Amino acid sequence: MMKNLKTGLVIGGSIGGLLAARVLSDFCSKVLIVEKDTFPDGPEHRNGTPQAFHPHRITPRGKAIIDRFFPDYEQDLVSHGAPSSLNKIIHQHNQFGTMVSPYPRNDIKFSRAVLEYVIRERVRKIDNIHFLQKHDVLSLTASSETDRITGVLARDRETDLSPFPIEADLVIDTSGRTSKLSQWLVDLGFTVPLPDKMTANIGYSTRRYKLPPGKEHLADKWDAVNVGGTPGKTFLGAFSFIENQVAETILYRPDGVFPPSDPDQFEREIGRLPSPLISELISGLEPITPPKGFRVPCLFRHHFDQMVNWPPGLLVLGDAYSNFDPIFGQGMTVAAIEAELLYKELGRNDSDPPKTGFERTMLKKFQHVIEAAWWLNCAADLRWEGVGYEGAQPLKGIEFGQTYMDFYLKYATEKQDWKLYGLYWAVNTLSVSPKAIFNPEMVQIVLSSSPSGQNELDQLKNGNSLENALRDILPDFSEEIFAPEKMNKLEVRREN
Ligand SMILES: Cc1cc2nc3c(=O)[nH]c(=O)nc-3n(C[C@H](O)[C@H](O)[C@H](O)COP(=O)(O)OP(=O)(O)OC[C@H]3O[C@@H](n4cnc5c(N)ncnc54)[C@H](O)[C@@H]3O)c2cc1C
Repeated sequence: MMKNLKTGLVIGGSIGGLLAARVLSDFCSKVLIVEKDTFPDGPEHRNGTPQAFHPHRITPRGKAIIDRFFPDYEQDLVSHGAPSSLNKIIHQHNQFGTMVSPYPRNDIKFSRAVLEYVIRERVRKIDNIHFLQKHDVLSLTASSETDRITGVLARDRETDLSPFPIEADLVIDTSGRTSKLSQWLVDLGFTVPLPDKMTANIGYSTRRYKLPPGKEHLADKWDAVNVGGTPGKTFLGAFSFIENQVAETILYRPDGVFPPSDPDQFEREIGRLPSPLISELISGLEPITPPKGFRVPCLFRHHFDQMVNWPPGLLVLGDAYSNFDPIFGQGMTVAAIEAELLYKELGRNDSDPPKTGFERTMLKKFQHVIEAAWWLNCAADLRWEGVGYEGAQPLKGIEFGQTYMDFYLKYATEKQDWKLYGLYWAVNTLSVSPKAIFNPEMVQIVLSSSPSGQNELDQLKNGNSLENALRDILPDFSEEIFAPEKMNKLEVRREN
């Protein structure tokens, strides 16, 4: 295969960075991942990803993409003791009722540390990818004539000697939500648009438990219990399993009312959830950690795509570009979709160097997936008092989105309709476009099923056709990234 770029450099060696490096390995002679941490020898915690203690789920879409880049990677997860969810009970409690069913897919459940380790080990086996650990990237370097990014300045964290330059044809920032990319661009003289912000104040508290003798059957029976509670009023709780018969339980809220990390208070709050099931399941389990908290003070979506003078030789993906409320489990999937889009674009004509404007094209394409995830996040979190939105453009259709999603969830739950309920989750996990539920036929069925829904429908239409009314009120979600049949044809040419 032609390698049309000499060196690719990836800032950060977490999920986004590992996927970006995997993509570049097919198009660059050499790929360097610069990571500030030292990677542990096994699936263990490291400081650069403090979120990793908390539950991490991959969506079916994210899993399919990772599997194309790292075929059968789930077998590696299984070899670390990660369980399958196939035919185990999934119990979903929301404000309208409860849905209970055996889970029909063979998805593997894992801790984030195991997932990252498994992917990292696959990446290590790719001969043109190299790691530079314990090195901080401090800034970007650029050519003074063309503004092209020529590499980075890095510093060894142990010796702390002077920063030194590393040259690259293409730099991809995947340094996560603490990325300093905006500042680095400003330092080079660029004007950077302000990001959109959702001023949520998200609190997680997670505790892990071991199954004592006599309780092992729980891991064979249960996949996940999600107790959604009443938006705006109660904590959300969840219970599920990771590798080696360890159960994890979380409490969550996005509005600055933080779940407790004191063990007694944590279990008291679990007991106050609108369903007693999680409390019943953990009674008699052996806590192996205290509850650990995590706070996300703000979510942001950058608009680097709007910079007319975005420098060639630079890209950004994953949390560094946009990040999301973790409760929806979308972050790793967005990074994976972005990596897949990049692979597709680089593969279009891999005998030539990328065309002028390629970087801005990519940033715009990444926004298509970000747009859907961001809108869904805003629709969910802006229901909570105290959660605000700051953006150059007003959000489109959020109030209608919130109202309709409630009607939809109520309809699916009361009818115990797993097909519709599954579609709701397929939208929220980015497997299908929001249009799969926000389309005229579906909106008609759901809203006309109750007098209050019919009222909403009449107001929405206001003498218009439903099709036109929906087109006017909702964002124009890109269909391209939600056409998996097209994306599935992506041929990843090397087996790793
Ligand atoms: C509590 C919580 C739960 C979550 N649960 C889920 C979930 O269930 N499902 C899901 O899909 N997503 C979840 N997420 C989101 C997920 O963690 C992120 O979307 C994902 O990790 C993004 O990967 P990334 O590579 O972009 O960034 P990160 O994972 O944040 O990695 C950034 C990397 O860059 C390195 N780095 C940073 N700065 C520098 C520098 N200057 N120089 C060199 N290296 C640097 C860091 O050490 C780190 O390795 C959750 C997040 C939180 C906070």
